[in-house]
Amino acid sequence: AAPAPILEARGLTAGYGDLAAVRGLDMVVHPGEIVALLGPNGAGKTTTLLTLAGSLKPLAGEVRHNGKVATAPLYRRVRSGMGFIPEERSIISKLSVKENLGLGRGPVSEALRLFPQLQPLLRRPAGLLSGGEQQMLTLARCLASRPSLMLVDELSLGLAPIVVAALLRALREAATETGAAVLLVEQQVQRALSVADRWYLLQHGALAGSGAADENSVAELAAAYL
Ligand code: ATP
Repeated sequence: AAPAPILEARGLTAGYGDLAAVRGLDMVVHPGEIVALLGPNGAGKTTTLLTLAGSLKPLAGEVRHNGKVATAPLYRRVRSGMGFIPEERSIISKLSVKENLGLGRGPVSEALRLFPQLQPLLRRPAGLLSGGEQQMLTLARCLASRPSLMLVDELSLGLAPIVVAALLRALREAATETGAAVLLVEQQVQRALSVADRWYLLQHGALAGSGAADENSVAELAAAYL
C-alpha cells in the first residue's frame, strides 16, 4: 500500500482578501516523492504554496499535514519538520555564510556536507555571494535540519543551469535518502520533470491536469502551455 500522504489539499480555495486566486484544489504529496507544481505566470502557484505552508489562510477547504488539518502558522509548521524556501531568498546579507547557517535548525556541519562549495565562503557576508551561492546557502540550511516536507518556490529563477542541477540533485537526494517529501513550484517544465516523480498543472487558478513525470508528460504539458 502507498504510504499516507504527508501533505494534502482538499477543496482548497485561497487568495488575498476575499479574492480567490486558486479554487477547489485537491492535491497530495507522499513521503519520498518530488511533486512539481507547474503552470504559466499568474496561474496561482505561489499562492498555493504559501497556503500549503501556512503563510496564507485558506478561504475554503483545508490543508492537511501529517493527516491533521493544519491551522498553525508557518513558523510553527517549520518547527514540526516543514522546510520552506520562498521565492525571495531568505538570507541575512550582513551576516556571514557561517552565521546564516547557524540560524538554521540543523547543524552547520551537515549543511557543509551537503554543499561543500560553501566551505571556502564561510566568513564572507552572505550578501556578497552570487545568486547561485545564495540559493545553495538557503537550501543547505534548510536541508541540514532534515525536514520531512519541503515546499520550494522557483528555486532555479535566474540561476545558471549547472547550479540549478546541483540544487535539484540535493533535493532528489533528500527525497530518496531521508524520505523527505518535496513540492516544487517551477515555471520550467523540462527542468522540473528532470527531477520530479509527479506533476500537477495549474491554469487560471484551477488544476488542469496531473500525472507521472514520464516521456508523455512533456507533450501533454506543452499543449497546456500553448
Ligand atoms: P508567477 O510564476 O508569475 O509567480 P504564480 O503562478 O505563482 O505566478 P501567483 O503569484 O500565485 O501566481 O498569483 C496568482 C494570482 O494572484 C495573480 O492574478 C496575482 O496577480 C494575484 N496575487 C498574487 N499576490 C497577490 C497579493 N499579494 N495580493 C493580491 N493579489 C495577488
